[in-house]
Amino acid sequence: MSDHCDFLVIGAGVAGAAAAAEMAATGSTIMLEMEERPGYHSSGRSAALYTPNYGPAVVRAIVAASTVFYRDPPLGFASQALLTPRQALSFVSTGAEHRIDEFIAMAPAETPLEEISPARACEMAPLLRREAVARAILDPHVMDMDANAIHQGFLKQFKSRGGRLATDQRVLGLERTAGNWRVTTASGATFTAPVLINAAGAWADEIGQLAGLPPIGLQPKRRTAIVIAGDPALAPITMPAVDDGETESYVKPDAGRLMASLGDATPSPACDAQPEDLDMAMIVDWLERKTHLNVRRIEHSWAGLRSFVRDDCPVVGLDENTSGFFWLAGQGGYGIMLAAALGRITHQLILQGQLSADLGDRGIAESLLAPRRCRLGIA
Ligand SMILES: Cc1cc2nc3c(=O)[nH]c(=O)nc-3n(C[C@H](O)[C@H](O)[C@H](O)COP(=O)(O)OP(=O)(O)OC[C@H]3O[C@@H](n4cnc5c(N)ncnc54)[C@H](O)[C@@H]3O)c2cc1C
Repeated sequence: MSDHCDFLVIGAGVAGAAAAAEMAATGSTIMLEMEERPGYHSSGRSAALYTPNYGPAVVRAIVAASTVFYRDPPLGFASQALLTPRQALSFVSTGAEHRIDEFIAMAPAETPLEEISPARACEMAPLLRREAVARAILDPHVMDMDANAIHQGFLKQFKSRGGRLATDQRVLGLERTAGNWRVTTASGATFTAPVLINAAGAWADEIGQLAGLPPIGLQPKRRTAIVIAGDPALAPITMPAVDDGETESYVKPDAGRLMASLGDATPSPACDAQPEDLDMAMIVDWLERKTHLNVRRIEHSWAGLRSFVRDDCPVVGLDENTSGFFWLAGQGGYGIMLAAALGRITHQLILQGQLSADLGDRGIAESLLAPRRCRLGIA
């Protein structure tokens, strides 16, 4: 006996949860997760930053569409604000001053960046060594994002709409038979549905392979983060996130402590990513070269995977090689920000086969997200 529903979602990260919540409003939906709880992989390991000036144009447009939801979520979605002011300060050292002009030029008119003097940068972020800062900009639009509340909000919405989450269900087999996808899991259970949504994060190409589909060329990349003691004099809790414009290394206040990352992107197989000693040592080295911090102890560390296709844009759409197989993958370093709007986009593409006018007006086109672009070598 198999469980039958209208929509099956593989993966209960933030992407799967947001899409499943949307689909559950229309039909019976089951979400399968291989771990014992949702959020064990990338969605539970983010930096929880809302950075609307980050990524390719279509990513920024989808983030802007998500912002409408995160600023004013439906009643009962979360008990606290999902976005709170933070700001971000990017600095470059002598020799890389031109990077600041590039950042300013890339920022859309709605979220402009503001150049500030090196002295002002060191005043706002007292931890910075003055000699490390040749030029600096402030991004006033960056916010702290409550990534856990966002993920839990989508899971709650999903359940309240009658959706069912099945954990400890690692998908091992996929077969298209009699107009349905038949999914078998490691526990021996089977599930069937005419429409399958592949939101398996770093494993999305492996799920495609189980369905006999050509890969989209997804590359998971490992990023490592550490947490160290806070220092109210050098890094007040209201300090902006501080980002090295040359290397993407960053440090930011994090619940009374400081979180730092090299901004590394090391190619990795899909796996339970773990922090490596060398990467942690390099974060400490960066902190001690560019700031006045003296790192005595790493209190906590983790690594997570950010998964990209070649053009760094998400892959969202029905596969052209079969029926009812929907890709929701490749969210890279933007997946929490993107989730709300990608959930809506998933619903619209599955149910209407096209995007609503408000999304089109933002410059979001189905062709920019379609899986076929990956096979044509465009992404
Ligand atoms: C260090 C770091 C910092 C980041 N910072 C930010 C940030 O500041 N802002 C931002 O917006 N984004 C950030 N991101 C990116 C963001 O975390 C991801 O884009 C997002 O979490 C991806 O969500 P997902 O649901 O696709 O993936 P995941 O959360 O990995 O979910 C996929 C799920 O699929 C399940 N699964 C896989 N295979 C199977 C199978 N065979 N059967 C059943 N289940 C399966 C997995 O167990 C997993 O739970 C960061 C990521 C990292 C690593």
